[in-house]
Amino acid sequence: MTKRYFNLHRHSPAKDLEETAIINLFPADSPPQKDLYSVGLHPWHVYEDTLERDLALVEEKGAGAAAIGECGLDRACKVPFDLQMQAFRAQIGIAKKLSKPLLIHCVRAYPELITEKNRRGNMAPWIVHGYRGNAETASQLINHGFYISFGEALLDDGKLCGLLREIPCGRIFLETDDKAIGIREVYEKAASAMNLSFDMLSTRISENASRVFVIRGNSKEQPSRA
Ligand SMILES: [Zn+2]
Repeated sequence: MTKRYFNLHRHSPAKDLEETAIINLFPADSPPQKDLYSVGLHPWHVYEDTLERDLALVEEKGAGAAAIGECGLDRACKVPFDLQMQAFRAQIGIAKKLSKPLLIHCVRAYPELITEKNRRGNMAPWIVHGYRGNAETASQLINHGFYISFGEALLDDGKLCGLLREIPCGRIFLETDDKAIGIREVYEKAASAMNLSFDMLSTRISENASRVFVIRGNSKEQPSRA
């Protein structure tokens, strides 16, 4: 049964009955009883002495997850970039082994991200979450096969709304992340920016979700390997 709003990434269980969400877990968190979840080691929280333990937890909980992540690269945080890269590569390996999509946090490291994707070849989709970059980077990501997810930044960034019109509908997701906003607000903003009816946008994003994720109750769908 498809609900109206697919929320790619949030940090607490959804309260909106019309919302299907992927709940973000950090490695030590317990998986929710019935909600979809992703599990990953965020680049802000990579420490050398706990890396091995955290990666083992990601792999263990990843088996039942809709996706691996959020994980990725962040040049604006204090964790050494090499260590972030080590953690990210390990999680790419876990996603590949488990045939799961990757949910990616990326700040000022898009060239490295694209290089990593190209090195890995054929895998389940890679999705950049919380996108707030420019149009040129977005088009590079699309050309390299990424999906892009938009959240709170859409609500007050006209440029980002303009960019949304340039991205193929089949590559877009929407999310609330850890922000105190409702997924409906994000859908409303995106629908008006894209000049689409609300229902059309909701249908297109549900189609993307069915293509990318194995969602319970929708078991005949296989995740795309494209
Ligand atoms: Zn997040």
